[in-house]
Amino acid sequence: MPYPYLENLVTMLNVPLFYVPGNHDPTYNAQDSRTYAEGGSNLDLKLVRHKKTLIGGFGGSIRYKPNGSNQYTQTEAYLRSAQLLPRLLWNKIRRGRALDILITHSPPFGIHDEPTQAHQGLKAINWLLRAAKPRYHFHGHTHFQRQNLSPSETVNGETKIVNIFPYKVIEV
Ligand SMILES: [Zn+2]
Repeated sequence: MPYPYLENLVTMLNVPLFYVPGNHDPTYNAQDSRTYAEGGSNLDLKLVRHKKTLIGGFGGSIRYKPNGSNQYTQTEAYLRSAQLLPRLLWNKIRRGRALDILITHSPPFGIHDEPTQAHQGLKAINWLLRAAKPRYHFHGHTHFQRQNLSPSETVNGETKIVNIFPYKVIEV
């Protein structure tokens, strides 16, 4: 979603906004307000605690263009996801669980993804799900109006994986 739209939501509704950038968003740059949603929390490679809920994020998709922003090879995605490990472990020790909600742009590999290069899921997200065991995983990137006939919700171990495209209202 365009950042000005998200900024409007935050301003008009006075609600918290947690988001991750996708492959159609620009590369984050603190000096350039066009590259983030003002008033929101960009959760890419971050973990926050909001009203006792542990929320973590992982932006971007599989790389399919050499210079595309927020795109990663499977290996690059693994290396990025490892950066979340210390905080996940800390949560596990301190709060008895690593994560409640994982927000990513890409789906995991083999779940809600598509065989085309641009819509292949990230294996690093499967790893994050196994390591952190969140109750929910919300993702986008794959769009059901095309040929993707997979369901929008899948239960995987202790996690309910939800494709939130085009939007979802979920009570936690
Ligand atoms: Zn996408």
